[in-house]
Amino acid sequence: MSSAPAPLSVWSRNISPSPTLAVDAKAKALQAAGEDVCGFAAGEPDFDTPEHIKEACAAALRSGKTKYAPTPGIPALRDAIAAKYAEDYGLKVSAGQVIVSPGGKFSCYLAILAVCSPGDEVIIPAPYWVSYPEMVKLSGATPVCVLADDTTGFKLTPAQLEAAITPRTRLLILNSPSNPTGALYTKAEMEAIIAVALKHNLYVMSDEIYEHLLYDGAVHVSPATFSKEAADRTIIVSGFSKTYSMTGWRLGTTVAPAPIAKAIAELQSQMTSNATTFAQFGALAALTEKAKTRAALDQMLVAFDRRRRFLHAELNKIDGIKCLLAEGAFYLFPNISSFGLSSEEFCTRLLDTQKVAAVHGSAFGAEGYLRLSYATSDEIIAKGVTRLAEFCKGL
Ligand SMILES: *Cc1c(COP(=O)(O)O)cnc(C)c1O
Repeated sequence: MSSAPAPLSVWSRNISPSPTLAVDAKAKALQAAGEDVCGFAAGEPDFDTPEHIKEACAAALRSGKTKYAPTPGIPALRDAIAAKYAEDYGLKVSAGQVIVSPGGKFSCYLAILAVCSPGDEVIIPAPYWVSYPEMVKLSGATPVCVLADDTTGFKLTPAQLEAAITPRTRLLILNSPSNPTGALYTKAEMEAIIAVALKHNLYVMSDEIYEHLLYDGAVHVSPATFSKEAADRTIIVSGFSKTYSMTGWRLGTTVAPAPIAKAIAELQSQMTSNATTFAQFGALAALTEKAKTRAALDQMLVAFDRRRRFLHAELNKIDGIKCLLAEGAFYLFPNISSFGLSSEEFCTRLLDTQKVAAVHGSAFGAEGYLRLSYATSDEIIAKGVTRLAEFCKGL
């Protein structure tokens, strides 16, 4: 008799489900059960998608844009994305280098699959977005996480990168502005990191999904703009979810050197085909109806900035909490290590006793911190931070 096969594959057994989605689901379940929950867990803007974008999608739907589209995206949208990179960053890319995918998350996964093989190592600065290590594992490669804590502003130093590189290192993942910390690399910092990556012939996946959510006049730089050599090694991932409050639309974008773009399109052609056709027409309006989009984005940024300042100030008034001021995205990542609890225990007790949902830092590869998303109302932020202060006082 042969023994029964393992019920699940090595891929299923090795993956951990998204802890951010899990905490958010628990908070929403408590809320549905009638509890008054202050949710800081969700990683999505609390605004609706701007009207002109919804209208363009509805018009496309009404006019019958309901069929398959070319796998890498509708031509007009690929052109508009290429034009956006020229306009925003002076980066010359052809529409053939642009791929539209069902969500930035899938764009990241395809980028990793396109360049990584079993046995390769991928360097991921921590705190990291929860999905990177799992995606790397699903490619058969090995994640190598390097902690960049609040002493360096949550930014990897060139020396740390140099020390983590081995002959097997294939890819470096960067995410500026960062989820979960909101940290933004300056041009000089980014250039120093990229110089090390190029010296060792690494690919760089630059996740720029928060590129437009910036405060205090901060400027986002893409490594692809540094030199032709850098552009030839950089895969830029971005998307519509965060900038235009379009998380449910599932639209991500990749700009890659031509051979990698071709590989990504081929992978996508076998895995999902095109991103939803009529949704792409909405995204097109986001890029072409510029004045309306700018006005909507400016309105969101005013709210995010106000909440960011308020939450940051209130957190630092709490004895035992230290919090850096983030320059981008919509998260703060306070240090709670002085309380002597694991971040998971801290968050579980915070939710159970004060009904405040935050995600434990260990989920992002950084013990001793919390991630608080301020993409929620001013009222909830004020109430939630008061409860957090109360909770800390009782520890
Ligand atoms: C939200 C997010 C994404 C992708 O979001 P999608 O909704 O899949 O487009 C990618 N990277 C980071 C760091 C994110 O926070």
